Amino acid sequence: MRPSQRIRALTFDLDDTLWDNRQVMVDTENGHYAWLDAALANWLAGAGRPPTRRFAEHFPLTNYVARRQALAAAHPLRRGDFTWLRREALATLLTDYGLAAGDAERWAEAAMQRFLALRHRVTPYPEVDELLTRLSRAYRLASITNGNVDVRRLPLATHFPVAIAAGELLAPKPHPRPFLTALAQLNTPPARALHVGDSWRDDVAPARRLGMQAVWIATEAPARPLPPGVHRLEHVRELPALLDRLEE
Ligand SMILES: [Mg+2]
Repeated sequence: MRPSQRIRALTFDLDDTLWDNRQVMVDTENGHYAWLDAALANWLAGAGRPPTRRFAEHFPLTNYVARRQALAAAHPLRRGDFTWLRREALATLLTDYGLAAGDAERWAEAAMQRFLALRHRVTPYPEVDELLTRLSRAYRLASITNGNVDVRRLPLATHFPVAIAAGELLAPKPHPRPFLTALAQLNTPPARALHVGDSWRDDVAPARRLGMQAVWIATEAPARPLPPGVHRLEHVRELPALLDRLEE
């Protein structure tokens, strides 16, 4: 490849690209809701108002999920702002449970603090730290996530001088804005950047539309041949070998 066309920047999705996110989400979802249920029952009992039915009995987890979906449908621009959706859903459920508006807000906020603490208990794949250390010597690196992980709270932060929280931009992937924001901050045109992610819809397709190259992390082989500029890897650990091939 001619030096003028070399890939200069790499952008990374986080969840299910740099770590396995499924169990983290299950533990976080159950954990913060159970915490809220117990802490709220304690508080009400302490205030001399022990509840006849506990919060999670009155509103099981499924109600919370449904409330978030309804809010996302009613506020399309907030669709990717998962932290807002959760806090808002909790506050309205707590109000419906009988809490005063101020108390509902306060408890929703406390539950979200708990949520975010649990959400950040992610374990990157063992190869990731060394991989990013190596890549950062040759490329500019950014993270682009729709999730509510604040990369600055993770040890991995040192590898990402640019970290884009797409939900907070009110433009979740596949919207081009988080990609263009990252590329502007990396001072790199799309043609000289490569995005790595596990979602065809949210990672690969928008990167390609902008003229970036894309790596699709997918364990199963695709049914059809991939379009030009898209490379499939089973695991992010295979990235350096692919980059070596592309730079030949
Ligand atoms: Mg992902």
